[in-house]
Amino acid sequence: MTNAKTVLPGATLGVMGGGQLGRMFVHAAQAMGYFTAVLDPDPASPAGLVAHYHVDTGYLDEQGLAQLMQRSAAITTEFENVPAAALVTLGAHRPVAPGAEAVAVCQDRAEEKALFVRAGVPCAPHARIETEAELAAVPDSLLPGILKTARLGYDGKGQVRVADRAALAAAWGQLKQVPCVLEAMLPLALEISVVVARSAFDEVVQLPVQQNLHRDGILAVTQVPAPDASPALQQQASDCAAALARALGYVGVLCVEFFVLQDGRLVANEMAPRPHNSGHWSIDGSDVSQFELQVRTLTGLPLVAPRQHSPSVMLNLLGDLWFPQGASAAEVTPPWAKVLALPGVHLHLYGKASARPGRKMGHLTVTAASAAEARDVALQAAALLG
Ligand code: ADP
Ligand code: MG
Repeated sequence: MTNAKTVLPGATLGVMGGGQLGRMFVHAAQAMGYFTAVLDPDPASPAGLVAHYHVDTGYLDEQGLAQLMQRSAAITTEFENVPAAALVTLGAHRPVAPGAEAVAVCQDRAEEKALFVRAGVPCAPHARIETEAELAAVPDSLLPGILKTARLGYDGKGQVRVADRAALAAAWGQLKQVPCVLEAMLPLALEISVVVARSAFDEVVQLPVQQNLHRDGILAVTQVPAPDASPALQQQASDCAAALARALGYVGVLCVEFFVLQDGRLVANEMAPRPHNSGHWSIDGSDVSQFELQVRTLTGLPLVAPRQHSPSVMLNLLGDLWFPQGASAAEVTPPWAKVLALPGVHLHLYGKASARPGRKMGHLTVTAASAAEARDVALQAAALLG
């Protein structure tokens, strides 16, 4: 279905944010014949480097926003911490997807949890902590727990594990007493995520359930199909993701992260109002990627259900690989040629000039005829990378 509002190839699509997610959106949009414009203050941002136009101002700079609007027929965002005020300004003049309100919910863990409850999606027992009184009123059942800043946390940052009340009080002080959410520490069996796309015409499509392994709070490995999640659990996660997209009136690509508890229960953890690291495999393993879904939802082109054509394993490439153990402080180039000699390896590097430990520099996706083979090749690639 197309309608008068459809933005067709040949038009320019704008992106707020110039990181790797913006870069992969730009690649998808360009492949479909769109021009692209990126707003990011960094003159060498991964997306800015590959877009047709780069506006290198701050996210709230009026002139920058005006330039982006002048270039763009429709505008999306690539990271959730774009100030909601900027999206409101843009949304007054151009189609913006996702919208400011939906992004604002995903920017605040307390709001996000309230949405889970409203939509009937199970989530971790939790309490909001904004005042000393709320700190004192926390029930014992939430300890041991994890104290998380309500805003601006990512990759495990802005979180402190707390064993008891004394540790909780100290942790809140350590987090400068900003608004926080305390969650009970849950016994996790595994972590999964679902990428869902919803159009302005209420079409909803999804990628298959993704199984994720984190190291030090950062995503390390994604496997699709999810080897350890039962079909019933996968269905429940997909249904929850669709329900959340609808409850939010969401237009765009949304990723919902879940925990599977040791007793088999599913619990929603958090949402990202954009494509997600755990959906990167879809570039190589699915006939429609999460970034093409972002283009289609933004432009009003039809949504078709993606079809996974290959079992996939995605490995994140963190900056640590550029500093192998035992090497001096100097950067070395990882052994790409050896890795690419393995069958079904797809290398994606984000064009970041300097590596730092923990920095997401790229990823690689292994596709194969069977999940066992994809896993086997991924293990070989990981061994080569050390
Ligand atoms: P981030 O925004 O940094 O991704 P998350 O809330 O997803 O923050 O937490 C990061 C990781 O910490 C999760 O992927 C999970 O491994 C662990 N974690 C978070 N909350 C809990 C919890 N309530 N119980 C147990 N583990 C948790
Ligand atoms: Mg997370």
